Amino acid sequence: MEAYYRDTWAEINLDYIYENIRVMKDRLPKGVKMFAAVKANGYGHGDWQVAETALEAGVDYLAVAFLDEAIALRKKGIEAPILVLGAIRPNDSSVAAYWGITVTVFAATWLIEAEKCLKEDQTLTIHIKFDSGMGRLGIKERHEIARIEEFLDGNPQFGLEGIYTHFATSDELDVTYYEKQFSTFQDMLSWVKVRPEIVHASNSASSLRFDKTNFSAIRVGISMYGLTPSLEMEHLLPIPLKEAFSLKTKLVHVKKLNAGESVSYGATYTSKEDEWIGTLPIGYADGWLRKLQGMEVLIEGERVPLVGRICMDQCMVKLPKRYKIGETVTLIGQNGNQMISVNEVAHKLETINYEVVCMISSRVPRKYIRNKNVKCIHNSLL
Ligand SMILES: *Cc1c(COP(=O)(O)O)cnc(C)c1O
Repeated sequence: MEAYYRDTWAEINLDYIYENIRVMKDRLPKGVKMFAAVKANGYGHGDWQVAETALEAGVDYLAVAFLDEAIALRKKGIEAPILVLGAIRPNDSSVAAYWGITVTVFAATWLIEAEKCLKEDQTLTIHIKFDSGMGRLGIKERHEIARIEEFLDGNPQFGLEGIYTHFATSDELDVTYYEKQFSTFQDMLSWVKVRPEIVHASNSASSLRFDKTNFSAIRVGISMYGLTPSLEMEHLLPIPLKEAFSLKTKLVHVKKLNAGESVSYGATYTSKEDEWIGTLPIGYADGWLRKLQGMEVLIEGERVPLVGRICMDQCMVKLPKRYKIGETVTLIGQNGNQMISVNEVAHKLETINYEVVCMISSRVPRKYIRNKNVKCIHNSLL
């Protein structure tokens, strides 16, 4: 167990991730596979820790954005199949094959280039990506898929295992664009001569709302972490989700400010009367952004405001009374009867919950809870 020597940490409840997956899996018809999206260090929760838990919960496949993320999982001992959702360089296809990583093919030219790089005895598993309306990565033209099929017929080094697409608006109440993408994807599927084993389209939002786009697998990210894909569809969630991410720190200094004295850079906060001010060892370099000035945090189940500018490594909190050094302060999560959700922080930052969990930097050590106990601590600095 790696130690950490500062009083700020993120607590990742792997039990909740396990439970979220189980309830989602229970809703799926038998035979529909589940991909767990663990890109971006498992949405900030920890890549292999989440991957391991997801596999225990019965997930079939892992998905990441970049080849580096897939290799990192292999190096940490993850043997399950991994799909790279993003573009990999054709020249890196032999590296992908070496590590047994499945890659996304989104253009015929990619295959031609990749074939030149594969070593004679190597094989590469691929999924073809269709762009049904996301406008990001994928094939749009029928002739291109014909070219790819022709190429694959003559190149047994490539194994076509899957076909997929991605929805742009499945978390929105208006389903018009989602329906359009669904029918475009169905047309695209009809272009393919032989359907591969795994056809997948749904992300968290669509898999929680619509059964018809399950196909043979779903890809879940945000809901596995216990977060709603959007506030708009929160009331439509068919199952309860448990937020796995919390962020905690401790009071490292408590002092009395006399009336008229100020706090932090720019002296933007000045006390009107004698006040207790606490110092917290977390700042914008930890991803606790300057825009969070004025945000509330929790002490002993009570909401208290952050005052003054947030510094790179520290920020200050206005206390209703003198608290002891070492008192736990919750920035995200449950404390007593109060809860500060990831969504509340996202609202303050005028962004989405996805961005909040991704922005808590690697400088913050992660403490993992499994079976209600601390399972391990990950400190990327030591
Ligand atoms: C990230 C990602 C997902 C998971 O999306 P969530 O909204 O987090 O469920 C699924 N598919 C692709 C292609 C992705 O990039």
